[in-house]
Order: sequence, then C-alpha cells, then structure tokens
Amino acid sequence: MITGVTGQDGAYLSSLLLKKGYIVHGIKRRASLFNTDRIDHLYQDPHVSSRNFILHYGDLTDSTNLIRIVQESQPDEIYNLGAMSHVKVSFDTPEYTANADGIGTLRILEAIRLLGLTKKTRMYQASTSELYGLVQEIPQSEKTPFYPRSPYGVAKLYAYWMTVNYREAYNMFACNGILFNHESPLRGETFVTRKITRAAAQIALGMINTLYVGNLDASRDWGHAKDYVEAMYLMLQQDEPEDFVIATGITTTVRDFIRMTFEELGAELEFKGKGIDEKGFIKSCDNNLPQVATAARIVPDTPRYGKGIFTEVEIILMILPKPSFFIPGITAVARM
Ligand code: NDP
Repeated sequence: MITGVTGQDGAYLSSLLLKKGYIVHGIKRRASLFNTDRIDHLYQDPHVSSRNFILHYGDLTDSTNLIRIVQESQPDEIYNLGAMSHVKVSFDTPEYTANADGIGTLRILEAIRLLGLTKKTRMYQASTSELYGLVQEIPQSEKTPFYPRSPYGVAKLYAYWMTVNYREAYNMFACNGILFNHESPLRGETFVTRKITRAAAQIALGMINTLYVGNLDASRDWGHAKDYVEAMYLMLQQDEPEDFVIATGITTTVRDFIRMTFEELGAELEFKGKGIDEKGFIKSCDNNLPQVATAARIVPDTPRYGKGIFTEVEIILMILPKPSFFIPGITAVARM
C-alpha cells in the first residue's frame, strides 16, 4: 500500500513494485480536478477483475478511512509517502502540515496495531534531510542531532520518532528513510529544480524573460527519485528494521544548477553583484534562440528566503563500513 501514490515518489515506486509482481494499493485524495497525471499510465479500470493497481480515495487526516483501507487491503508493506511536502508552504499551513505529515503517520501506525497486523505489515516512513535543518556539524554523520527549521521539518520529526517508538514498543517492522532531495521530470513544478528547468525552457521559447529564485548559494544534495524509491523498497526487505540515510554525497549550489541548465540550452551565464543584488545574465549563446541570447535574467526573489532562514545542508557524506545495499547513483547509504 502506498500513501501519496499520486506524488513523484508514489509514481516511481508504484512502477517499481508492479514490475516486481506486487499488487499495489494506492491512496489518492479526492480533488475537483484530476490529480493522477503521474500514474495515469498505470491506471486499470475498476471493472477489470484481475487488477494489480488499485486506487482508494483517502486522506491522512482521516483515521477511519485509513483503518478501513488497511483492513480491506491487508498490506504486507506500507510506504507512507503522503505529505504536504513543500517546506515554504508549511510556513503558511503549519497546522495542516502537522496533521497530515505528523499525526497522519501516527494514524497509519495505529491502523497497523489496532488491526492486529504488527507481525504481518512492514512500514516505511518517508523521513527527510529537513530533520537536520540548522546543521549541528559539518560534515554531518549519522550521529548528527536533528534541528528542524520549518513546520514541515518539525512535523516530520514527530513522525520519525513515532515510527521509532512503534518499532520499539510493539516490535513492528517500521523504519525511516531519511532521504536527501531527489528530483525527476515528475517533481512538483514549485520545487526549485523544476522551477529552474521550466523557466529556462520558457525563456528559450520566448515566453518569459526573467527567472526569480531564492538563495543562489544554497547547496543541495540532489539525487534521482527513481534510485531513491529502490532504496525505500530495499529498506523493507532487510532482515531487521532499521533507519537509513540516503544521499548521493555530492552537493551542488543553486547557482551551478542554473548555470548547468542554461548550458543545456547553449547559453553561458555570468553573475554580477553581491547578496540579494546579485543577478545572472546571458554572457554568450551558441544556439539559435535569440531570446536566450538577449533577454534572460536570473533575479533573486525576496530576502526572506535567503541564507540563514531556510535550511542549508552543506555537506553530507556518510558511508558506513557495511552498507546493506548498493544502488548506482546513490553513494551514501548510512545506517542510523
Ligand atoms: P509530492 O509532493 O510529489 O507527493 C506528495 C503526495 O502526498 C501526493 O500524492 C499528495 O497528494 C499526497 N498528500 C498530500 N497531503 C495528503 C493528505 N492529507 N492525505 C493523503 N495524501 C496526501 O512528494 P514526493 O513524492 O516528492 O515525496 C514523497 C515523500 O517523501 C513525502 O512525504 C516527502 O515529504 C518525502 N520526502 C521527499 C523528498 C524529495 O526530495 N522529493 C526528500 C525527503 C523526503 P496530491 O497529489 O493530491 O497532492
């Protein structure tokens, strides 16, 4: 069973599990417009009797509905990926974020326990590098204390500890994957990677001429979602439940990400100015797209989102002597 099946990771994980022969039950929210774009290619008509991809309407804020779906589907594995996953938006909707991301996890754990499935059902909790928030040491290690810096991070911290607590108190196979950022063409369009790549494409097509971004110096460890869902799957196949940190070990600044994106379009950028006055301009362009050659500007947006307010994870490298699995693209798999 996958909560958040309509999200980036839900879509990749569904494909992976279906390929492995699983029957996948996904929980999707009711919306006034279709919200299943990422999984439409997997859709099977409910009238087909031998379906292996089954969608249920549900919400992490509704215990009764979660208990019913878990009861009906009797899952061997639950991947709790559903969340209000946007750090910036969590400042605008802190109570909802706590409800869905924090207590939502408790509701899943309780459903497993109340239905007597603690021996049968394994549970993966989508934890996040945002738990580290204001980094307490550089480089971080698996011993680095958490210090979340957003309502999203705090809600996920509650979910993290509830998962550990249910594992210890009830002997459940429940584990946290502390995943660093992972991206893909399916990533939500308001996240920085998609924001940059979409804007660059729109600039090239002459549709817009300015890209506004936050802190150009922010560093991120970006992996590919396809690799990371494999790590989730492998975590639930271990002999013992454990928490893992997943990262590539390579960080890139937003400035370099923008540079590389424009290079793909044949354009070289030059950054001028300091701090929030820094702006990027097209220095040279070797393609035939005049818009890119003349008009593009990269302009920082409000200083509120500058360094020091949002979390910046500078370096993450945590290779332990005995990683329990290896996935190309992921160089740091650390047991907690
Ligand atoms: P997305 O934002 O793409 O997907 C989130 C999913 O959760 C969507 O299916 C969304 O539904 C669903 N959802 C939101 N609120 C609720 C709710 N109240 N009840 C049920 N479902 C809900 O996130 P990702 O796929 O990128 O991430 C998956 C998980 O991993 C999330 O928990 C995220 O916090 C965590 N994570 C992600 C990282 C990343 O870099 N991608 C890094 C570390 C952790 P809808 O489509 O209707 O909005």
